[in-house]
Amino acid sequence: MRVAFLGLGIMGQSMATNLVKAGHEVTVWNRSAGKQVEGARTAATPSEAAQGVEVVWMAVSDTTAVESVLFGSDGVEPSLTEGMIVVDSSTISPSATRKFAERIARKGAHYVDSPMTGSKVAAEAGTLLFMAGGEEATIERLKPLYAAMGKKIFRMGEVGKGQSTKLVMNLQIALIYEGFAEALTLAAKLGVDAEKLIPLVNASMVKSGVVEYKAPFVLSRDFSANFPLRLMRKDIRLALDAAKEVRVKLPALETVEEVYDLAIEDGHADLDYAATLLLLEKWAGVEVKGQAA
Ligand code: NAP
Repeated sequence: MRVAFLGLGIMGQSMATNLVKAGHEVTVWNRSAGKQVEGARTAATPSEAAQGVEVVWMAVSDTTAVESVLFGSDGVEPSLTEGMIVVDSSTISPSATRKFAERIARKGAHYVDSPMTGSKVAAEAGTLLFMAGGEEATIERLKPLYAAMGKKIFRMGEVGKGQSTKLVMNLQIALIYEGFAEALTLAAKLGVDAEKLIPLVNASMVKSGVVEYKAPFVLSRDFSANFPLRLMRKDIRLALDAAKEVRVKLPALETVEEVYDLAIEDGHADLDYAATLLLLEKWAGVEVKGQAA
């Protein structure tokens, strides 16, 4: 298929690469110049990238970024034609998503909000999990692209439901990881060895995909970003905003948001969200010990 891929960050770079590898005709664009994908054409603007393609796929930071890529000067909007599909794999506001989709529909194009889970490693391996909100027939047309980048796609309902689902997924990841980080901190203070604790966790009902994925990074003290802390805070805030809109109280998430705020004040914004542990360690005056990387 002819695809414009917009946003070559941690996720987009690998996703666009996998589209090229699967034989699709890809044009890429990134806000800062200099990022490219081997085998893909590089466009100077989102508008230029979107000309003549069947699908425009986005993976940018946040709601403002999606809005500017679609509707800013040099945005995608003027290049849209009847039947084109715009897909957004960024994690952004569900209510803004519905507004974007309405505006896109005025050009006769379709909108699918399709955030993803799986982090940097799954993006590289082409094993992302996608959620999607949009018409069933439109999502069906995207199957060859999903197959190149991911292992499964879950249609959650109409436009907006993909983003709503993603927020409740990341709510759980943030809380599960924070539980793990607090457990490691208390264990260290009580003299329980993390190297001995983690196999027990993994053999018990405490076991979780989050712990399995993060434990090796934490033990080797590798806090480089797979999913930057600043982006997880964005998702926590999006979840709290969405909760407010429907009058739901989320006390644990509100507390975890404060931990993220303080971690960012401590200079950890561009580290992985696993680096909230560094703050807990600082407060407790301990360091969780693991094997050297
Ligand atoms: P990233 O590495 O920080 O990349 C962000 C991308 O967005 C870059 O290409 C950046 O361009 C672009 N961007 C930022 N602001 C922009 C603006 N105003 N206009 C146009 N482009 C803009 O982020 P990422 O990890 O790839 O994540 C991308 C999206 O996927 C986010 O919504 C994130 O929450 C979501 N996500 C990430 C993961 C993960 O594990 N990393 C997993 C699932 C979902 P520049 O190069 O110019 O800065």
